[in-house]
Amino acid sequence: MATPQMPTTQRMQLPSDGDASGRTLGAEELALLTEAIHSGTLNSTRGTLVTRFERAFAAWLGRKHVIACASGSAAVHCCIAALGLAPGDEVVTTAITDMGALVPILYEGGVPVFADVDPDSLTVTAASVRACLSPRTRAIVVTHLFGRPADLDGLVALAQEHGLPLIEDSAQAFGATWRGRKVGSHGALAAFSLQQGKHITTGEGGLVATDDDALARKVFLYVNKAWGYGDPKPDHYFPALNYRLTELQGAVGLGQLPKLDAVVADRRRVAAALRHALAAVPGLCLPDDPPHGSHSYWKFAFGVDPAVVPGGAQALGKRMQGAGVACAPRYIQKPAFACALFRDWQQSPVSWLPLQHNDRRHRPAPFQTDAGTGQGYPGTSQGLERVVVLPINERYQPQHVEHVAAVIRDAVQGLVDGR
Ligand SMILES: *Cc1c(COP(=O)(O)O)cnc(C)c1O
Repeated sequence: MATPQMPTTQRMQLPSDGDASGRTLGAEELALLTEAIHSGTLNSTRGTLVTRFERAFAAWLGRKHVIACASGSAAVHCCIAALGLAPGDEVVTTAITDMGALVPILYEGGVPVFADVDPDSLTVTAASVRACLSPRTRAIVVTHLFGRPADLDGLVALAQEHGLPLIEDSAQAFGATWRGRKVGSHGALAAFSLQQGKHITTGEGGLVATDDDALARKVFLYVNKAWGYGDPKPDHYFPALNYRLTELQGAVGLGQLPKLDAVVADRRRVAAALRHALAAVPGLCLPDDPPHGSHSYWKFAFGVDPAVVPGGAQALGKRMQGAGVACAPRYIQKPAFACALFRDWQQSPVSWLPLQHNDRRHRPAPFQTDAGTGQGYPGTSQGLERVVVLPINERYQPQHVEHVAAVIRDAVQGLVDGR
């Protein structure tokens, strides 16, 4: 008869990025907010705080231009819009990302084409992107998932070989580096998110970075209803919304930025301690720096081998949650292309229109390279099946790391022993 499982560790309140316990918001942001309020100007077209934040972020990142906007989704939207797609043009991207990185492609008349990912890093590779290129391909989006830089050597070379702009979705990877240079400074354009749960936050917000003057101007216009501020004869040049950040958000961003390097260093310290504490646990594939890069640990995402840990990531995640350690087995529950908006693409003009200009519409699953057979995404399937996404943040102390590691150790042991 099965004996009831005894909790070996007491529950512990862990610092959360959903509130002050896991965030770095404080006096610096308050002082800048006070400045914004006293100025009486809360919009960025007249105020100075958003502009100061943009300049400071550009200096931090090492890029010529940074344009702030309303969200990470808006930032990706600006990047895509700046390319000026023709209807039905294809953008190669990943099915393991935030939906806010995908829908903008449709809104600009483009067709997202999903490349498979490496099952360990859950990131697209030069080879998987190459397999998706067609005469209609106009851009490549790479997502530095969970803060781990993708293999930029191969991706940058591939983009150059085909004359395609590379967009780095760096929303999860502030401060990660590749060959000593920050991610977000390797492609033609980069997008960042300032949403509550990212490395630094303004509640909602986003940033676009580029070195290209013409792309920067297009992004600026796209954030500002395409009104030609500063031009001798301004007009609304093309359809665009108001995607501006407010001065209040600019103030918070300006207060957050000087803390970012410490946030990244602290997260790397927490991740190293977790890796050390979990090193002897069988069946886990722990995150680490890739050969030429440094990971900035938006999350601590690890793989679980179901041949060693019965029930795999799902069973382990369930036990961790049962012990009070929040985590997300499978990250996003299914690949993006399996979500209703792509499956039912004929239901909305946003998804229907681009396909009227692309022969993929004749396929049973037009957004998938495998035409819906389920055969074409072994890396995506295995990656999602095996991953457990563990939130960590800069406020974790040694006792938090020890607690989380003890819960994981016990849970794995329990599954291995069949109790
Ligand atoms: C968070 C995120 C986005 C979207 O950012 P929002 O600010 O939530 O709109 C886009 N891409 C990735 C990879 C993200 O993690």
